[in-house]
Parts: sequence; C-alpha cells; structure tokens
Amino acid sequence: MAVAAPGQLNLDEFPSWGSRGVDCFEKLEQIGEGTYGQVYMAKETETNEIVALKKIRMDNEREGFPITAIREIKILKKLHHQNVIQLKEIVTSPGPDRDEQGKPIDGNKYKGSIYMVFEYMDHDLTGLADRPGMRFTVPQIKCYMKQLLTGLHYCHVNQVLHRDIKGSNLLIDNEGNLKLADFGLARSFSSDHNGNLTNRVITLWYRPPELLLGSTRYGPAVDMWSVGCIFAELLNGKPILPGKNEPEQLTKIFELCGTPDELIWPGVTKMPWYNNFKPPRVLKRKVKDAFKHFDRHALDLLERMLTLDPSQRIPAKEALDAEYFWTDPLPCDPKRHVLVTVFIILPSNFLSNNFLS
Ligand code: ADP
Ligand code: MG
Repeated sequence: MAVAAPGQLNLDEFPSWGSRGVDCFEKLEQIGEGTYGQVYMAKETETNEIVALKKIRMDNEREGFPITAIREIKILKKLHHQNVIQLKEIVTSPGPDRDEQGKPIDGNKYKGSIYMVFEYMDHDLTGLADRPGMRFTVPQIKCYMKQLLTGLHYCHVNQVLHRDIKGSNLLIDNEGNLKLADFGLARSFSSDHNGNLTNRVITLWYRPPELLLGSTRYGPAVDMWSVGCIFAELLNGKPILPGKNEPEQLTKIFELCGTPDELIWPGVTKMPWYNNFKPPRVLKRKVKDAFKHFDRHALDLLERMLTLDPSQRIPAKEALDAEYFWTDPLPCDPKRHVLVTVFIILPSNFLSNNFLS
C-alpha cells in the first residue's frame, strides 16, 4: 500500500480534526464479528451519542499514513447527503493498542491508531437480508433502491465513483434510512472519462463487464451495474452472479446477458482482454426469462441496469424516474418502514398492547 509523502495529510484543512483522542469514546462492541477490519460501536462519553469507530489499517505501513485512507477521508469530507454516511471526525490514540498483558497488538507496534468516527447505523443490507425469515416487501425494496440511487446520483454529480457497491456497504438504520458507506475504493473522476483508472475494483459478483474486460477508462456506469446486481438480488432472494473467479464471472454475465458484439456494444472487440475471454459460442440474452417472476416495471428497469455496453446503461438520475418507482405499490416512506419491520418481528399480542389499542 502506498504511503503519504510528508505533509500530505493536511489536517490543517479541518483544524479540529484529529485533535481529540479515542478516549472520548467508550468502545461498546466490535461490529461485524471481526471479519472486516475493525469497526466498533462506541459511545461518546460526554454526550452519550452512539457512533461507529472505524480503525484505519496501518498494518502494512512502515511509516506515514495510508494514501487510501487519505482518499477516503477527503472524499467523505466533501460529501454531505442524507443517503451518504456522515464522517463526523477523526480521532487518534497516542500509543499502540495493547492486549490484556500490555503487549502491542495488530502489528502496529510503534505507532498510535487513527479512527474515523461515523454516525451509527443499525444494520447493513447483507446482514439484514440474511436474517432467518427476512423477506423484504416490494414497497421496502423500492424504498431502499430509491435511496441507493439518490445517494449514488449525488456521488456521481459530485464526480465521485464509489467502486464497491454491495450489500455490506449499504447501511440501514431502524427507521429504514439507507446510506452508502465504505468509500475505501472510491475516487474522484473527471466527466470526460479519460483518466487511467485502476481496473481491479468492485467486489467480483458486482463487477461490470467493462472492468472484467480490462477497461481503465470508465465512469459512473460501473456503479450502476453493481446497483442492478443488488436490485435483482433483493427481488430474487440471493446473489444473481456468484462467480468464483474472473473468467467464471464473465461467463456468468454472458450466460445471463448474452455475448456482446460490435452491434450491441460498439468497441467491445477492442477491449484489452476481449480476445482472452472471447466466448466460444454466441449466447442469447435471457434476463427476461431468468426473472420472469419479477413485475414488468422491475424487469424493465433491471434490463436497463444490466446493459452490457456501459454507455447505454441507465444512469442513476434516469433510474429514479423509472415507472417502477411511480407505480403501485409505491415505495414506502422510511418512517413507515419501521412499523412494517416491527410487525414482522414482534408477536401480535405485543402489537395489540402497544400500538393498536
Ligand atoms: P471495510 O473496508 O472493512 O469493508 P466498512 O466501512 O464497509 O469497512 O465497514 C465494515 C462493516 O462494519 C460494514 O459492512 C458494516 O457492517 C459495519 N459498519 C461500518 N460502518 C458502520 C456504521 N457507520 N454504523 C454501523 N455499522 C457500520
Ligand atoms: Mg465494506
């Protein structure tokens, strides 16, 4: 991982940032069973406000501050929207974290730690969807999709690509508000798409065909492919393109969306890895067949999200205008969503005693 050159971490830009210690917070529990770096639920000791603390991984840094974290912080600092997670501040701990015996842990032997402080969200979409017996209603799915698209449209207008849209990076609170999180792979882009961008981004199952074919000049459409995968997953109850490796991922995409040619995707045969992955036979698109149980408007929208040619894929703004969001059943209001979830989880006598009397 690259490190920042001396002076590059310009915390002067936000004077109060990084000036408080992590001891202003009491760690309550680690979130996500430790499989994802370290994110803690914590309480601000003075205000009792509940927050999430995300520790910046310094494991591989011999010196300096990871450039990826600087990018994440810089991007989050400029984004302020109800559907984008809010970074509240950065806090530091002076010495290395220690175990019960007082030994430094984490390989971070010589330095203190740095944490990003976020507003706390109760769930992530993957965790919520994986709950036994959890089945989202159509108004809930519309409500989540609408918020996901609104947040993403805001990022794209502000020239930020997220580049890791997937369920575990979509946070949801108990009121049904959804926020985009984990900007660890995000970056700014210029609208001419002429940048030479890293190709290996986006978790495999949500990665669009242009990246799998080696593109380094791409734009917001990469995130829209991931949104299409999430949308179908919500309606389908399970991931739709679970490839084990890159070639298999591309094969799965072609089996569902058909094999691309110059007619449906001008320029595809000139993509860097087209010849390596050229499908042995022509396959027909079968999105409509595979998901014929989806309603007509959902299917129309999905078709436009899972369009192979990124230049023809629907942008977030247009997706928000799709019939799907304006026809019955309408998206539920996040506030009403609470009640729907509560109705599913709580026994009916609790409801009659507390809500319906
Ligand atoms: P990573 O780079 O490790 O994936 P994330 O920012 O995605 O980092 O955080 C990992 C997990 O921690 C998320 O999938 C989510 O379950 C949880 N998490 C992250 N931020 C918050 C938050 N603000 N509130 C509640 N949980 C969070
Ligand atoms: Mg994540």
